Amino acid sequence: MNYISTRGQMQPQGFSDILLEGLAPDGGLAVPESIPQVSADTLERWRALPYHALAAEVLSLFVTDIASDDLARMTRAAYNTEVFRSEDIVPVRALYDGMYLLGLSEGPTLAFKDMAMQFLGQVFPHVLRKRATTLNILGATSGDTGSAAEYAMRGKEGVAVFMLSPHGRMSSFQRAQMYSLQDANIHNIAVTGVFDEAQDIVKALSGDLAFKSRYRLGAVNSINWARIAAQIVYYFHGWLRATRGPGEQVSFAVPSGNFGNILSGHIARMMGLPIRRLVLATNENNVLEEFFRTGSYRPRPADQTYATSSPSMDISRASNFERFVFDLVGRDPSRVAALWAELGSRGSFDLSAYLPDFEGKYGFQAGVSSHEDRLATIRTVMDRCGVLIDPHTADGVKVASSHVEPGIPMLVLETALPAKFSDVIEEALGRAVPPPPGFEDLESLPQRVDVLPCDIGAVRDYIARHVLV
Ligand SMILES: *Cc1c(COP(=O)(O)O)cnc(C)c1O
Repeated sequence: MNYISTRGQMQPQGFSDILLEGLAPDGGLAVPESIPQVSADTLERWRALPYHALAAEVLSLFVTDIASDDLARMTRAAYNTEVFRSEDIVPVRALYDGMYLLGLSEGPTLAFKDMAMQFLGQVFPHVLRKRATTLNILGATSGDTGSAAEYAMRGKEGVAVFMLSPHGRMSSFQRAQMYSLQDANIHNIAVTGVFDEAQDIVKALSGDLAFKSRYRLGAVNSINWARIAAQIVYYFHGWLRATRGPGEQVSFAVPSGNFGNILSGHIARMMGLPIRRLVLATNENNVLEEFFRTGSYRPRPADQTYATSSPSMDISRASNFERFVFDLVGRDPSRVAALWAELGSRGSFDLSAYLPDFEGKYGFQAGVSSHEDRLATIRTVMDRCGVLIDPHTADGVKVASSHVEPGIPMLVLETALPAKFSDVIEEALGRAVPPPPGFEDLESLPQRVDVLPCDIGAVRDYIARHVLV
């Protein structure tokens, strides 16, 4: 399997080649040259597999330059009960009215980013060892992604992580989660600024090509294809758990931000998995909902991006959306390049000519959820089935509830556990959430973090002094 760029100007490359890169050299995103197909017979053969074995099967279709026994060893090391709290890795629980929860938040950081990041924590060291090199991962985080990356890479050979966070601006739970890691290859850097300033420092240093290659800087951001590939697995798992036989359909509802999670669902559907609808849920930052309603894609400037009570979905532009548009326009890279040029010059583009295809051909539906919806949904799910959900998952349940069809299970992706957002839960239910088992003492553990001024020079010096050689 080779990978090409959505903008058409990259020589086809293997999985291991694109693994360690960010954007393609032409500014596009790597996509598989063709979408592998999975037959109904194969799906039935996969029905009894444990999660790690299913992951090896699905990933082997996208990863053809790593031996299949190596891949199987890596998925066993990523998806087991020492890392995930559930025997099933991804449990499926019934809610009401035909809705179910697909439990993607049983990993070390209590959010779905662990599903992909744990695989990266296996495949990065493997490929780096084969190539006799090392990598220093540089990133900025306001919470979820940074901690998932650190937990996946801690103690791993050939990889170090430099994670910038905004000093004093994360929740005490999030701080404790990241800063309590004592592994020598994990560097927590709290900069005295806001998240956007931390992000600007990362962009500046990654854009300094001499510095980047001298210190072998890399990233694990949401456009990384290996993350998309690893997420495809749980759509197959969800379908296998919610159906009894060939051809039965299910729908998925996905709390969305950067369009990474639901893109994996789109690929699973293109592979032949019988998915009826992919229901995209946004919060008040509804750039994607607007696109699926009108065909017009209008990313918002930062001052029109609201800080909401489902903060991991507070995005203004959806970094993975280009991969879907590539399929939508018939995989025509010159068309994609022209659309993104238009986005650069006019700030928007219009694909309303494809409106009938959004649902008809690709199964997409979309809806918005507000702060009030989130609180009401958390209460309803608690009252009707005694299950506590987090604010992001609540956005998913809210939007899913108006798209359920009789006889078709609706699987809502649980993207985080409520303990991470206890203030919102308290607002909804009038009581706090106890930390999950194993996390009771988290906030009293010793913390390891260096505070730096919010300044490129200071971060540059720090990296130079601490990188792997
Ligand atoms: C990252 C995240 C999302 C959004 O996922 P995308 O892949 O960016 O669409 C939703 N909920 C939670 C809790 C997240 O951490």
